[in-house]
Amino acid sequence: MLSILPIPAFRDNYIWLAHDGQDAFVVDPGDAAPVQAHLAELGLRLSAILITHHHPDHVGGISTLLAKWACPVYGPASEDIPGRSHALREGDTLELSAPAARMRILELPGHTLGHIAYVGEGHAFVGDTLFAGGCGRLFEGTPAQMLDSLDKLSELPAATRVYCAHEYTLANLRFALAVEGDNPALAARLQHATRLREQGLPTVPSTIGEEITTNPFLRSRVQSVAAAASRHAQGNLSTPEAVFAEVRRWKDGF
Ligand code: ZN
Ligand code: FE
Repeated sequence: MLSILPIPAFRDNYIWLAHDGQDAFVVDPGDAAPVQAHLAELGLRLSAILITHHHPDHVGGISTLLAKWACPVYGPASEDIPGRSHALREGDTLELSAPAARMRILELPGHTLGHIAYVGEGHAFVGDTLFAGGCGRLFEGTPAQMLDSLDKLSELPAATRVYCAHEYTLANLRFALAVEGDNPALAARLQHATRLREQGLPTVPSTIGEEITTNPFLRSRVQSVAAAASRHAQGNLSTPEAVFAEVRRWKDGF
């Protein structure tokens, strides 16, 4: 059984640490120091590093960690990942023995072109593709690519826990309310997330089910979201791609 905990890093990053009491893997260690501190405190060995995409706040700690732990580094095949030992593509399976874990690789272009997620056993490590209440900015991909990527994630079982890489939830939900002010699940979610943040607690992981009901970026086919996006665009947006693109643009300037 894996224990999974967030290691806060920088301003609002989370580095996910998964362990069985002895061995651990981390996802997207942008900074080595807080990872080393957690490993030492919990008495864990680092046995693998998993990377979702090439941005510095996700890969910056790899070389320092490798100097101490000679462990494999898994990462997307089509991006430049420092120290990568295993290049992963859509449909690949990653099997770790310690801690025991089996994950499937999804390619999720949008935030970056090579971005991948690690999915298995009820968990999804999604990097900067899907956030609690939001999605990553389109630095490299197109809206159509990102919509496809988010569609892939929304097909996962509703109970799948979503481990994203940033604490952006409050800002995301405030924007979501501007899009869908009459979604009762959304108001409740913002209230709950606000309480968590007031106590200094993370709002993540969320679940795919929660995201489907409250995250506007997974709701481009919902009439109220399409209507709000059309009002914002001052025109009739007739495809999910156009709705998604408008909501993403709207959020960029929100
Ligand atoms: Zn990123
Ligand atoms: Fe990031």
